[in-house]
Amino acid sequence: MDTSIDLRSDTVTRPTSAMRAAMAAAPVGDDVFGDDPSVNALEARMAALAGKEAALLLPTGTQSNLVALLSHCQRGDEYIVGQHYHTYFYEAGGAAVLGSIQPQPLPVQADGTLALEDIEAAIKADDVHFARSRLLAMENTHGGRVMPDGYQAQVRALADRHGLRVHLDGARLFNAAVASGRSLVQLAANADSVSLCCSKGLGAPLGSVLVGSSAFIRDARRWRKMVGGGMRQAGIFAAAIDHALDHHVERLAEDHANALRLYEGVRGLPGVAGCVVNTNMVYVDLGSAEQGLELQAQLKAAGILIAGGRKIRLVTHLDVSAAAIDRVIGATARALG
Ligand SMILES: *Cc1c(COP(=O)(O)O)cnc(C)c1O
Repeated sequence: MDTSIDLRSDTVTRPTSAMRAAMAAAPVGDDVFGDDPSVNALEARMAALAGKEAALLLPTGTQSNLVALLSHCQRGDEYIVGQHYHTYFYEAGGAAVLGSIQPQPLPVQADGTLALEDIEAAIKADDVHFARSRLLAMENTHGGRVMPDGYQAQVRALADRHGLRVHLDGARLFNAAVASGRSLVQLAANADSVSLCCSKGLGAPLGSVLVGSSAFIRDARRWRKMVGGGMRQAGIFAAAIDHALDHHVERLAEDHANALRLYEGVRGLPGVAGCVVNTNMVYVDLGSAEQGLELQAQLKAAGILIAGGRKIRLVTHLDVSAAAIDRVIGATARALG
């Protein structure tokens, strides 16, 4: 039996046997023809959950965000984005390379948001010198932080004043919903489109779902085909996601409780210069990258996988129990002590 504990990311979860059984039993068809009943049902379910007209299943969150940006923006348009948001920093420049869409990155505030004054100042006038400001690309959660109440409505109002669209990268919007007690509909209400990851806390092996208006999703379906994301019997993984929606949403609260438990167990240890917890993520600042690498090596010897670096991100998920957290706290205390 594999007794290792992997805190590097919530993407490392493996499908449970119940999820595998649901995948095996899924009715399927050719989804490019619109013939896969499991995909069609999942898209309808996710659209309803998010309060949007339509939805599109894609293999990854990166492709989902890319397709959203390509659908909202034309060549020569610009999207305004946080400089550490996924759609700018972690997607290999896809929107610029494949869409000729210019990013306008802005600093991310301590609470994970963009300052409204910064957004306002970055929006460009209609002038031949400038790219056309077209879209605000937001992110919730960012670094595990849930966007503050009311912020998204302010962003919406600002966007409306300037005729901009809003895309929300909601890779972990289910975590935000469970942590804040607000519904997905509420959290998605101020965005024109939302991308939801199913391969993270939800524990599906792959898949993201993009939601928005029917017209937007029609465009997105064409862009998905263009970037090579039109899939055939994709019902196999739509079934995994459907299973996750039934069984793995409420339980995200356990991941948040485990993150808090981990935070409380490590924050006072010697050598810990700083520690914060946000939903399912704990960030431990060890003062230097060398200390981080040293802890990484010691924990690895104890069967615990973490990322290296100065500020280490520890992520709780479906495959990490409260007992595992206690093992991590004990091993960390021994390593740092
Ligand atoms: C993980 C993630 C994505 C999508 O990543 P994929 O690995 O392509 O599925 C998008 N945005 C955020 C904020 C993420 O954390």
